[in-house]
Amino acid sequence: MNNIVSEPLEFMPVERKNGTYALRLCLKQGELTAGMMKNVLDTMSRFGLTSLRATTGQRMNLEGIPKEKLNEVVESLGTAVEKAPPAMSVCSGAGLCKYGMQESRGMSDKLLAVVMQNGPYPFKVKSGVSGCKIACGLSFVRDIGMIGGPKGWDVNFGGAATKNAGLGVSLGKNLSEDEALELAAKALTFYKENGRKRERTSNMVRRLGAEALLEAVK
Ligand code: SF4
Repeated sequence: MNNIVSEPLEFMPVERKNGTYALRLCLKQGELTAGMMKNVLDTMSRFGLTSLRATTGQRMNLEGIPKEKLNEVVESLGTAVEKAPPAMSVCSGAGLCKYGMQESRGMSDKLLAVVMQNGPYPFKVKSGVSGCKIACGLSFVRDIGMIGGPKGWDVNFGGAATKNAGLGVSLGKNLSEDEALELAAKALTFYKENGRKRERTSNMVRRLGAEALLEAVK
């Protein structure tokens, strides 16, 4: 541990019910480097913090920070941001997983750039990228879902894992990376122009019909 150099982190402060704060670490594809871990451990040790919790969106929350210590903890850890990047569920993909058909981690970086470029949106946009149809990246129940196959990428839009759970609408199959990203961008533009405030993509697609979405992304 002595030869590991501490790396600064970006994070979003979140107020908790009990008046304490959590810092939501903005991790790329859920990954913590050794330098980031050193920073987190040093900070936890310095301020007597005991809980670092994985979120469902492949992030980590450093919990239990008293309000009066928040500024000091922020200073110790790195940079506070107002908003964390949009949520991405990404599987290991072809580079690591023996079942992988496509490289989901590279696709996830490109999809995140598309999501961020096209915003803001009526409500949150969660994406899922999976290297094969087993879909560990929850791609069938995400606003945007990319699923790798032997001939390319399948793209789904408007899936949800909420109380109105449902699969996304299939926008295309066996696409190149560029074709898949272009479809995702068109679907996001449709959402931006037609979604109501705080309406998720799944509810918008139910309200307007899958045909309207499919027509818009042609
Ligand atoms: S979705 Fe497929 S490629 Fe990705 S981790 Fe699961 S089994 Fe592996």
